Amino acid sequence: MISSVLPTYNRANLNFVKGEGSWLIEADGRRFLDMGAGIAVNVLGHANPALVDALTTQANALWHVSNLYTIPQQQALADKLVDASFADTVFFTNSGTESCELAVKMARKYWHDKGAPERTDIITFNGSFHGRSSAGIAATGGEKMVGGFGPLLPGFVHLPFGDHDALTAAVNENTAAILVEPVQGEGGIRPLSDACLKGLRDLCDETGTLLILDEVQCGMGRTGKLFAHEWAGIEPDIMMSAKGIGGGFPLGAVLATEDAASGMVAGTHGSTYGGNPLACAVGNAVMDIVATPEFLAEVSRKSGALRQKLEGLVATHSDIFDEVRGSGMMLGVKCKVANMDVVNVGYENGLITIPAGDNVVRFLPALNISDEDIATAVDLLDKTATEVKNKTA
Ligand SMILES: *Cc1c(COP(=O)(O)O)cnc(C)c1O
Repeated sequence: MISSVLPTYNRANLNFVKGEGSWLIEADGRRFLDMGAGIAVNVLGHANPALVDALTTQANALWHVSNLYTIPQQQALADKLVDASFADTVFFTNSGTESCELAVKMARKYWHDKGAPERTDIITFNGSFHGRSSAGIAATGGEKMVGGFGPLLPGFVHLPFGDHDALTAAVNENTAAILVEPVQGEGGIRPLSDACLKGLRDLCDETGTLLILDEVQCGMGRTGKLFAHEWAGIEPDIMMSAKGIGGGFPLGAVLATEDAASGMVAGTHGSTYGGNPLACAVGNAVMDIVATPEFLAEVSRKSGALRQKLEGLVATHSDIFDEVRGSGMMLGVKCKVANMDVVNVGYENGLITIPAGDNVVRFLPALNISDEDIATAVDLLDKTATEVKNKTA
């Protein structure tokens, strides 16, 4: 008999009932060190007092009004994002996949209104992940995502990851945009080099193509810059955000330049919940903390320490682990054993990590994780690797 919750997930038998900073507490009282943060969502940890205060204060004043009215919290958050980024304008969504929907619509409308309606193709890359809506799965591609869900939204071209020659050859008179994650998340923590991102920007400039960056996972301070593309010194035309931007409250956003957004006039897009007072009250509190140089410098310092320690473990357990990769607090350890063995034995040891493609185990902790918790996480992974080795021996 089908479970009352639609069984689209293989769930671990863990029932968390409370969170404190980087720790999760199970119904039976066990404490777990959370190095996944709800898949890069809880950027300020669980039950962060500033976020709890922002949420409860807003909850006592006004939860929801529609976008038929001006929403001061939304206006304030949009101003902050515009001030802190390449963008001139922001639309708020509730999730990453909704951000993908709008990014695709915006790019196509742009070319339609510029008198080049044939420019509808969006180029994406193998190993990417852009969400689970119809546009999201069409953009992502791959049998696992799209199998059985046809007919798919047309107009997506999938290329090998990091193959600049294939990309140059693929851009043509039908190309509207290139859509790419600066650091692939679900695909196994695969960063694009700064040179690659610069090359992408140049190619887009030469051909008039729009550059859409999916920073749903790698953005909002995760790499030690507010947005990952800042490391390469480039700017996109359109950028998708979600996950960390709400610190655990469902919130997403599409940021764009004035030119890229020029087709999106009144009536062309909307959302009932997107950018409502509750979500934006929390989003403002997240931005106020994360988008400061002091906070981002600490993310870089601590993530450097985590990376160094993980590299030490890869050297110690070279029969289990292959390499560390990623950027900032978005790190992946590629495994030589099944990554789920590491994740599952980690659970037994009170360590939460997240599997990813390419046999990788992901570390996406709260960005404000303490030095002490980083050290504990590495000890727990050390113990876990030893146990995995004993199990497979
Ligand atoms: C998670 C993710 C999405 C989809 O976000 P949802 O909020 O799950 O819809 C899109 N792109 C990237 C890069 C992601 O990591």
